[in-house]
Amino acid sequence: MGQTQKTVKDYIRTIVDFPHEGIMFRDVTTLFADPRGFRMAVDQMLHPYAGRRIDKVVGLEARGFILGGAVAHQLGTGFVPIRKKGKLPHTTISQEYQLEYGEAIVEIHDDAIEAGETILLVDDLLATGGTAEAGIKLVERLGGQIVGCAFVVDLPELGGRKRLEGMGMDVHALCA
Ligand code: AMP
Repeated sequence: MGQTQKTVKDYIRTIVDFPHEGIMFRDVTTLFADPRGFRMAVDQMLHPYAGRRIDKVVGLEARGFILGGAVAHQLGTGFVPIRKKGKLPHTTISQEYQLEYGEAIVEIHDDAIEAGETILLVDDLLATGGTAEAGIKLVERLGGQIVGCAFVVDLPELGGRKRLEGMGMDVHALCA
């Protein structure tokens, strides 16, 4: 297959049993490392939203920062990080969510989004949708309006897309 015919999925490497047994980890570092692959992913992520009013891109730690920063640059918007608890220096609001074992907390600066701003949420991968749902809640608690949720990979068997669509979200993913 020639280089020009490669799709985004072809650049992603799967690591079996990482970080623990039974997990097929989708490693997007190989996608990010390739200039053609990275550009293709960023362009395809923002494509449905080009021409729409997007005030800010919100990225989920950590791979959502790499993608979200590039998407924001291309759209000409600002970028806002949602981070794991304790990492952001100014005053924050927090949202708890369930993990496979236990809970996690994510945070956003309480002045990062103004009420009425339109937001594109970005992460590398949608699995159960728990992380994205926590991000959506943080944005909405600040009065932001989510225009869409964009991912490189969707693992539909884990239910994330259904969960987010059930919240009225527009979900956009490049591959499964
Ligand atoms: P979830 O909250 O279950 O939708 O999980 C999504 C978050 O966990 C994303 O930030 C992903 O980076 C990470 N993640 C979950 N499952 C995988 C996987 N199989 N491969 C790579 N990253 C994953």
